[in-house]
Amino acid sequence: MYSVPRYGRKYSGPLLSAATCTPALSAQDQLKVDTVREKLLAIAVEQCTTCYEEWLDLNVNIHGVCARCRKSSKYKPANAMFPGVYPNHLPELTQMEEMLIAPVHALVQVWQVRGGQYKYTGHICNFPRETAVFHAKVPLLPEQLDVIIMRRKGQATTLNLALTEDFCVRRAPVQQWLEYLMVNHPTFQSNECTIDFDALNQLPEDGSIYDRLHDVDVREMDETFEEGPPQGDDPGDVPETPLYS
Ligand SMILES: [Zn+2]
Repeated sequence: MYSVPRYGRKYSGPLLSAATCTPALSAQDQLKVDTVREKLLAIAVEQCTTCYEEWLDLNVNIHGVCARCRKSSKYKPANAMFPGVYPNHLPELTQMEEMLIAPVHALVQVWQVRGGQYKYTGHICNFPRETAVFHAKVPLLPEQLDVIIMRRKGQATTLNLALTEDFCVRRAPVQQWLEYLMVNHPTFQSNECTIDFDALNQLPEDGSIYDRLHDVDVREMDETFEEGPPQGDDPGDVPETPLYS
């Protein structure tokens, strides 16, 4: 009798028919599957030794130079086009933490928030400022960020888990990044921008800054905010401003 060992026991079910035992794929189809799998496994990220870009299909030649760099020498380190090796040893920052340590601010970010206990819905619009602002001391305080929270009037937004995560700031990772920038970033090395330790100590050790951001109560949400970004594929459908993210 045909039996299949299963967890140490003998299979005692009905016998499999010959049709069931036939492979689902023909030999020809199996060959095609194998070829696709082989080609997928062969896809690898390439790195250019001139511009240091790492991506797929860069068409890097035997000298390690990508197709773009073979045509133009614009993207070479001498033109300050290489920001340096990414510091993988540093912790990943939340979007709010990144904004707090950035010396240059070129956007005003508007959040439309309609909150619930477990989730919230809304949109984010990034409006370009006419002139970018340069801060000589970082981190900024949450109150200084160009982030505006729009809430419907009379509708309190419960601080739920999702909101807490999106507006989370942790002091230690922020300090780690600032210390790294002081040593490695030209703007910090030249003291054009310095660390404001008083401001750093006013950041939460690990908590939300949602209540410290600018907020606006609005009676009616703007239709643009209600609908969100345009969905059309045609780039002409997307207005220049506001910019959505
Ligand atoms: Zn290149």
